[in-house]
Amino acid sequence: MNLSQEDKKIIYDSIRDIEDFPKEGVVFKDITTLLNNKEAFQVLMNHLEQRYESYDLDYIAGIDSRGFIFGAALADRLKIGFVPVRKKGKLPSTTVCEKYELEYGFDEVEIHLDAFPKKNARVLLIDDLIATGGTANASAKLIKHIGADLIEVCFLINLTFLEGDKKLKEHASIYSILEI
Ligand code: AMP
Repeated sequence: MNLSQEDKKIIYDSIRDIEDFPKEGVVFKDITTLLNNKEAFQVLMNHLEQRYESYDLDYIAGIDSRGFIFGAALADRLKIGFVPVRKKGKLPSTTVCEKYELEYGFDEVEIHLDAFPKKNARVLLIDDLIATGGTANASAKLIKHIGADLIEVCFLINLTFLEGDKKLKEHASIYSILEI
C-alpha cells in the first residue's frame, strides 16, 4: 500500500528540525511534534498497519528508544507481540549484545536471549531514523543471532546522504517512509 504524496507531506511537515543538537553541526529530526499531532500520528500508523498487515509477522522489535513508540503502537494494531532492543545495561534477564562503532568510540545494543518465544519468529525491526546505520545493523544481527527471521527493517526517516542503509541492505530488506 503506497503512501499518497499528500499523506507523506502531512508526516514530513510534522517533524521538526533542531539545529546543533545534541552537538554542533547535527540537524536533529525531532519526532515529538509528530507524536503530539494526532492527524500526523494516525496517518503514519494507518500506513504502517496497512503495509504490514499482510506480512504475517509474529513480533515487532523496536530500537531504544523512539523505535519503542512506533513499534509498540504498530504491534498493538497488528495484535502481535513487541520486543525492545535496548542500549547496554537496561535489560534485566539473560541477554546477547552486539557492539558497534560510533564517530568516537563504541556503543552496544542488547536483546533478551528468550525475546521471541515462538520458533523461527517472523520479525519486523523498526526505528525512527537511520543515520550511519550502526544501531540498526547491530540490532538486525541480534535478531538473527537468536534465531528469528528478520523480515524487514522499517524507518520513518532515512538520512540517505549518510548511506547508512548500504551495509544493512546486504542482509535485510529495508523500507523507509521519508528519504531525506
Ligand atoms: P545511527 O546508528 O547512526 O544510524 O543512528 C541511529 C540512531 O540515532 C537512531 O536511533 C536515531 O533515533 C538516532 N539519530 C541519529 N541521528 C539522528 C538525527 N539527525 N536526528 C534524530 N535522531 C538521530
